[in-house]
Amino acid sequence: KRFEDLNLSPELLKGLYVEMKFEKPSKIQAISLPMILTPPHKNLIAQAHNGSGKTTCFVLGMLSRVDPKLTAPQALCICPTRELAIQNMEVLLKMGKFTGITSELAIPADSANYIPIHKRPPITAQVIIGTPGTICKWILARKLGMSQMKILVFDEADHMLAQSGFRDDSVKIMKSITKVNSKCQAVAWYTICPGNHLLLIRFGMKYISI
Ligand code: AMP
Repeated sequence: KRFEDLNLSPELLKGLYVEMKFEKPSKIQAISLPMILTPPHKNLIAQAHNGSGKTTCFVLGMLSRVDPKLTAPQALCICPTRELAIQNMEVLLKMGKFTGITSELAIPADSANYIPIHKRPPITAQVIIGTPGTICKWILARKLGMSQMKILVFDEADHMLAQSGFRDDSVKIMKSITKVNSKCQAVAWYTICPGNHLLLIRFGMKYISI
């Protein structure tokens, strides 16, 4: 398979070839991308080892599902650590360089010019990548709307859902989505084993495992 066979936009193909310097999809990309990108956008639980190219799968998934004309959050990626969120954002910015899609990190702030969320206008970035606690805080403060969300990604879901605080926050995030939006696709990536997939199924989400 080639990236051209995956129904990706010319802007994303340019990002893959020019910025990332990738030549062809890895096995997991060739298998999972059609599942993520093709209607009816079924929920997906996938297990992939580090280094298999899973970041590309969900970054392309998020960038492809966003409607560039709609200035509202449409893709959300939940990560177990701030470092992983930053790393994923770097990949997203590089891969999405030619798309014009906007993004924002939702991680605990530590900089001096930090503005508390309640003093900020509602988030209009199209892709949000962050950690469960901060994402929850933004939702609770009514600054991060869920009504236009098309895809929810759990990165390293096994690590994340193993921690009770993160698990509770993840449940809150899923509940806030299902309350206002019945069409959001969930994609959960596991590095070891999908032991916590019941959490997703409980929310009426179908799944395919690969
Ligand atoms: P990941 O498993 O997503 O952390 O990716 C592991 C490494 O493989 C990263 O350095 C990626 O840049 C690289 N990579 C991912 N997909 C491809 C691909 N299709 N072709 C070449 N390298 C890739």
